[in-house]
Amino acid sequence: RTFESLGLSGPLVGSLRRMGYSVPTAIQRSAIPAALSGRDVVAMARTGSGKTAAFLCPLLQRMDAHSRVGGARALVLSPTRELAEQTHAVLKKMSSHTDLRSALIVGGESMADQFAALGRNPDIIVATPGRLAHHLDEVPGFSLSRVELLVVDECDRVFEMGFAAQPHTLFTNTSVVPCW
Ligand code: AMP
Repeated sequence: RTFESLGLSGPLVGSLRRMGYSVPTAIQRSAIPAALSGRDVVAMARTGSGKTAAFLCPLLQRMDAHSRVGGARALVLSPTRELAEQTHAVLKKMSSHTDLRSALIVGGESMADQFAALGRNPDIIVATPGRLAHHLDEVPGFSLSRVELLVVDECDRVFEMGFAAQPHTLFTNTSVVPCW
């Protein structure tokens, strides 16, 4: 099967091709059509199986273009700063055909730079839960109330890391209803 046959748009397939992705992997074949159709997906696959694109492709296609209305519409939660950085780097490449904006919100980096990134009206936030919660506490007017698309990458680790309750608190005052 091809990426087109999974329902992905020509421009997105073009970005994938520039990244050297020509044939979808098994997890991509399973997850992309389901997520594109708006279903909630729980997926499990080995490291190196292509899971990043399995969630970023449907996310990017559903977001389409930058929204001038304030408030991120998609959130990717990662258990570690390193994974968040990697995911953000892939996101940048994979969205190069769009005007979508993203912000990386992770611990160990300057809060001021992250305030500035959030002020540029990102469509997509890639974050670790602790630092994201910190911004939600500190930044007046910053909320997740427009988030429609949520990815929890390596969700077993996100929920195990001592902040099992925290992802819930992130979503108070949003339309996201955690079901875990
Ligand atoms: P991941 O499991 O998302 O970390 O991806 C593992 C590696 O496979 C990364 O280096 C990706 O760039 C690469 N990759 C993911 N999907 C594809 C694909 N469909 N074709 C070729 N390489 C891919």
